[in-house]
Amino acid sequence: MHETKPSPWIDAPEPHTEGPARLRAMHSVLRNGPLTSHLAWGTGRLATEAELQTVHDAEYLAAVRDLSSAGGGWITGTTRVGADSYTALRAAAGTALEAAAAVLDGQTRMAYALVRPPGHHAQSAVADGYCMFNHAALAAELALRSGLERILTVDWDVHHGNGTQDIFYRRRDVLTTSIHMNHGAWGPSHPQTGWVDETGSGDGAGYNVNIPLPLGAGDSGYVRAFDEIIAPLAQAYQPQLIIAASGQDASAFDPNGRHNVTMSGFRAIGQRLAALADEHCQGRIVLVQEGGYNPSYAPYCLLATLEGLLGTTEVTPDPLAYVPDQTSGLTEALADVADAHHQSWAALRPGPTEN
Ligand code: ZN
Repeated sequence: MHETKPSPWIDAPEPHTEGPARLRAMHSVLRNGPLTSHLAWGTGRLATEAELQTVHDAEYLAAVRDLSSAGGGWITGTTRVGADSYTALRAAAGTALEAAAAVLDGQTRMAYALVRPPGHHAQSAVADGYCMFNHAALAAELALRSGLERILTVDWDVHHGNGTQDIFYRRRDVLTTSIHMNHGAWGPSHPQTGWVDETGSGDGAGYNVNIPLPLGAGDSGYVRAFDEIIAPLAQAYQPQLIIAASGQDASAFDPNGRHNVTMSGFRAIGQRLAALADEHCQGRIVLVQEGGYNPSYAPYCLLATLEGLLGTTEVTPDPLAYVPDQTSGLTEALADVADAHHQSWAALRPGPTEN
């Protein structure tokens, strides 16, 4: 199904990409994999209506709740509210708030909210791109209400974090950044383009930074975005907390992304994020799970991100990404084949036919 409608020619269509299987796989890789001894698991909780209203309009919340209790339905062209999903949506939001609270209370320096659906496309009163409630924005609001004054959000989901951008577009207490592929606007629920000229307005002018990268940007594209854009921004802004919108759909094997990032790139993202947090905010980072739709590979990319964040010396081998980008040698590779067969081509004849 992915980003297109199901094909009538395929008799066994895949299930929708945003489903429970991806989160179950991430959970099991973290439980069973090499980081298990580094992780402590907390329990989530349901966000209250008042907490959701720190980011979302009351009428919008009522519309989502009513659609859920009426059996579900499309709330925008890209986003469907499931039957009775309101409680699950409150659980995802409440778990993101619990993760933020754990860092703000000093229980831990890093916390990861492993939740679905994703949140970064959700605006105050608009659902978009599988997202209903904006978890990164809820965490940022909690941090501000806890007394912090400068929050940096870093979004490396392969899609533009348009919801988070929109919520804080006129404010400077949250500096929003998003690395994403060049996909532009995608309809009435997503008018923001993600281009560099969306920089914030009013008090927030200059406090929204979009980093659209060309298709196929790869590990080096993301590393350079951190080193050349995000790091100097953090140096200038001096955030007191970093909130990361952590997606894995920039991976080389994601059905919804075209950015060719491998485990090595995600590990580098984690390392750079930890370094920024150490330098500017006593190591404090809250991460919320966004997209990442290959149920086999996205969990490994999450694992690599956490290996980078934790600075583990042993790194998990990449199960899939064994091919570096060698397209610069394509002409030579084809010429080698042609050279090897040049003589025999001249002598090619149809083979003997059987009678
Ligand atoms: Zn995404």
